Formats: sequence, C-alpha cells, structure tokens
Amino acid sequence: MTRVTPQTGATRPPEHPSYPRRHLYVAAVCAFAVTMLMAFAPGKDVADSRNVVPIALPFDAPTEIPEEPVAAEPQQWVDITVNAGDNLSLLFGRAGLTDTDVYHVVRKAPQGKTLTRLYPGEKFGFLLDDDGRLAALKRIKSPLETVILWREGDSYIAEELVREPEAHRSFASARIESSLFLAGQRAGLPQTVIMELANVFGGVIDFVLDPRRGDVFHVVYEELYIDGEHYKYGNILAAEFINNGKSYTAYRYEDESGRAGYFSAEGVSMRRQFMLAPVDFTRVSSNFNPRRLHPIYKTRRPHRGTDYAAPRGTPVFAAGDGRVTEAGYTKANGNYVVIQHGQAYTTKYLHLNKRRVRKGNRVTQNQVIGTVGSTGAATGPHLHYEFLVNGVHRNPRTIHKKLPKGKSLTEQEMPRFLAQTHGFQLQLASIRQQQLAFNQTDPKP
Ligand SMILES: [Zn+2]
Repeated sequence: MTRVTPQTGATRPPEHPSYPRRHLYVAAVCAFAVTMLMAFAPGKDVADSRNVVPIALPFDAPTEIPEEPVAAEPQQWVDITVNAGDNLSLLFGRAGLTDTDVYHVVRKAPQGKTLTRLYPGEKFGFLLDDDGRLAALKRIKSPLETVILWREGDSYIAEELVREPEAHRSFASARIESSLFLAGQRAGLPQTVIMELANVFGGVIDFVLDPRRGDVFHVVYEELYIDGEHYKYGNILAAEFINNGKSYTAYRYEDESGRAGYFSAEGVSMRRQFMLAPVDFTRVSSNFNPRRLHPIYKTRRPHRGTDYAAPRGTPVFAAGDGRVTEAGYTKANGNYVVIQHGQAYTTKYLHLNKRRVRKGNRVTQNQVIGTVGSTGAATGPHLHYEFLVNGVHRNPRTIHKKLPKGKSLTEQEMPRFLAQTHGFQLQLASIRQQQLAFNQTDPKP
C-alpha cells in the first residue's frame, strides 16, 4: 500500500481520505429519506415530504454517523500545469484569481517566496471558497512530495504530504554475447541497474577486460511504484556474476546504523581499495576490447599502463579515494590527472578529453574525474591508466591480489546479515535453477 503521511504542520487531514466516509453518510441519509417518503408521505407532493425528513432523522440515524453536521461538499481542486514562460500571475489568472491573491500568498504563506520559482511541467492545485477567494494552494513538488497551503484567516498554514513508493522485487538473468551492457539491455535492465551491477563487482572484476563470451549474471533488484505505476528503479538486492567459470555473489546489507553495502555470502565486503577498471564500461560497446594490451608488460615499450579503448566522452572514475596531486596538460599525456591514494599508491589517467578535477581536490572512489579522449600522443580515444606503488609502475591486477580483502562483518553482526539476506539467497538460487533448466531445454547455439 502506498502511504500518505502528513509530516509537519498538519492541521487538517488530507482531504481525500474523508470523502468515502462523507459519501457513505450522504448515501445513508438519502436512503433514509426515501424510506421516510414512502412510509409517511404516500401520495403527497415533494414539498410536504421535505418537512418530514429533518425531524425524523436524529432518532433513527445509524450509530456510525458522526455527530458534527454534514459539511457542504467542498469545491473541487482546479489543477493547473506550469508552462514554459509562466509566472505566478499567469497561473493565478488561469485559476480565476488576481495579482492581489498572488501578492497575499507570497507574502503571508510560510516560505511563500519559493512559490515564485516555477518549473515547466510542475502541477499546482487551486481550491476556491464560495466567494471565489483562495482557500488552499497545492503544489505537487514531485510524485512523492506535495505541499498544501491552507488559508487560515489572513495567513496560511503549510501541510506537507510525503508518500513512500511501493517496492517490488524483480529479477533478470543474462548471458554475455558481446558486452555486459548489451546483455543487460537484452534482459530488460535499465542503464542505472547495469551501472550499479558494475559498481557492486567493480572491485573484483574488470568489466572492460575480464568478461568472456558465455559469462552469466543474475540480479535481484527493486522497482518502485506509485499508485500501481512504475516510478523508478531501486537498489540491487542480490547479484551473481559468473566470469570465466568463477562465481561472485553479492548481497545488499544494511547495518544497524542504516549504512548499506554489498557483501559476499560469507559476509566479506565487496568494496575494495581500488576499482579494477576506472571507466564507465557501460559506454564500451564491446567488452572484448580489440585494442586490449594486456598483460601490460608485453606491449610495446615504453608503454607502462593499461589502455581502455572507449568512445570519446566516456566518464573516467577515480579508482579509489585519494587526492589529486596533478591535473594538467602535456604534449605527450594530453589532459591528464594524477591521484595519490595514501602513502604508497598513485594512479594516472592520460589522454583525457576533459578534466573534471583540479590539483588539490579530494576525490572518492567512482567519482568522475574526466572523460575519455585522444589528447596528447594518442591515435584514437582511449584511457591510458597507470598504477604505481611507491613510484614504481606495477600491474594493477597483480597488486590487487596482494591488497587486503574487503572488510568482513563481525561475528556478532553475522546473524543479522544472514537473517536479512536469507530471502535473497533463496531467490538467487531459484533464478539459477530456472536458468539452468531453460538452458537445458533450449540450448544456445
Ligand atoms: Zn597507453
């Protein structure tokens, strides 16, 4: 169920939940009136029967009827959508109100001045009283957030309505034929979920260089709905990636302080000090990189890095948390960025089209620091990536294996982790089974 929660300054309940009640009541009164009409006024005209009803009503009224008198049906909200070039004056004009009303609400309502910033496509609702004056102004800020300004005498009281979307669990499986991105797309996954998948496994899999044809992944993720309609994609809850026959699984886990992260079934964090491939692989059309120069030392000298061929403009990420020690241009490197990670480690990013950081900036893992280009001595757009340990060039993957593993959950936390992820583990296992059965009955050529 979608919930409507009045948050602050709620002086009245949201108007719609009270409607069905009132309608019931009106219906009951009508039914009762008709009964009275037939019982006591057969053959009489309507004018006479009108007198009968009000007298009889209090005595025979059903017990559920509230004691307060029936309020007059409220006026209907008039909904108006903001067009490009609109201002409050035009908006109020369309609702039958004047500039005096605009001035009044902007001046008297809490945060009334924020009303003057309009966004095309945004929806407003106007409720007028019997005299045609503004009784309430509704602003739908987002599908989840609405603010109503109720007029109270000469000022306004703000009511905030916050909704929570309904989360549904979905899953997808795919076999990689050319790239993870295309496989994900074929499985019906949006780019956000594919990217998230790359982030989850980015510390253990190089998504540009590692995938092989026939690699398989399964993913359980959330989709959020409002009023039964898709609103957006939520988090990945569980995922498995089988690369070259080796299986990696990850489960989303939220600890007691509300911090969320991804952990293996054994409770080891998927987060590593460095991402293996510091590029947005979803933009790379084939994960089987034809320009693969790997392992790095077998390439032409004095080449001392890994090349990731990718379209110009592909985002380049900081491989790990650190500080930018250089960001500039040279004839050989083109636009380049150097990041220092703690005492021992340095990463370099060359031939960038654009730099997005400056010398001295602190960066976090996965932060965009620039885009792929072909500036400097480069024949085509690619990222040239170098990894240095104490100033010496090293193969990042060899070093990677020597770096400490991700943090493990404490023994005390494991029962909570297992309880939280048990359902996902079962779901992943069931998807795996289904996929297996599917592959057996319908083998791929
Ligand atoms: Zn290179």
